[in-house]
Amino acid sequence: MILSAGATVARAEQLLSQAFRDAGIDTAMLDARFLLQARLGVDRTGLLSDATRELTIIEAEALSRDAARRLARESVAVILGEQEFWSLPFRVTRDTLVPRPDTETLVEAALTAIADRASPIIADLGTGTGAILCSLLHERRDAFGVGVDISAAALDVARGNARRLNLATRARFIRASFTAALGNQRVDLVVSNPPYIGTAEIARLEPEVRHEPILALDGGADGLDAYRAIAVDVTRVLKPGAVVALEIGATQESAVAAVFAGHGLTLVRPAVRDLGGNPRALILQRN
Ligand code: GLN
Repeated sequence: MILSAGATVARAEQLLSQAFRDAGIDTAMLDARFLLQARLGVDRTGLLSDATRELTIIEAEALSRDAARRLARESVAVILGEQEFWSLPFRVTRDTLVPRPDTETLVEAALTAIADRASPIIADLGTGTGAILCSLLHERRDAFGVGVDISAAALDVARGNARRLNLATRARFIRASFTAALGNQRVDLVVSNPPYIGTAEIARLEPEVRHEPILALDGGADGLDAYRAIAVDVTRVLKPGAVVALEIGATQESAVAAVFAGHGLTLVRPAVRDLGGNPRALILQRN
């Protein structure tokens, strides 16, 4: 236990930051503040005005548990069970990928691609927390969506998120591998952030990422297995003029485009870049 009851809030912030810094965590101070704010139920200002107050035993124990998990390099998002995405709150667990800011690029590109389609039907393959599907349904009040995932635990999280965001009446969730579950359903948009890391690269990811489900990261030897699995069957489920919107790894633009070209789908625009300037989202359509 690194914090004891009776330590002041300011002292707790110091101790947590120091412990995180010593462990080589470069967001040490921010992480300490986030954990304190969450466990004390205050915002940044509240943290300052509470500086001289002493922690209760309950708070000290909860924060010590959080600190141990952070020192084991679990992300703050997973420890707190929540991550903001598209300015919406999403519950996250150890069974889901934590939604990334880069993935907002995919949401934006997908929204643009379906802007002129009325009451669009959306399929989100490998939905995880449901963050992509829920963000799209939140923006497009006339849309309906299906979230597909192979992980039952992830689907529980996605269903809960859709309910919490009042989107449940327009979202269905199905346990299956990619397009298999869609049956005769035809859609206006297939969107996916599939696993796209090459197996050998997994070991080189940040320790926080390595706590995330391997199923959501591992794209096989060359990182392209999931794209191949989607490409094989995706044209079957597309309405005329429908689009496919995919997140890709920074170096995968031409390789993924080639996979889909082999199944009659071509890029409608160059890859959309993320905030870091890397190609991140591909929009494809049937030739
Ligand atoms: N962008 C994620 C990462 O680099 C990977 C997500 C994925 O494989 N779809 O950690």
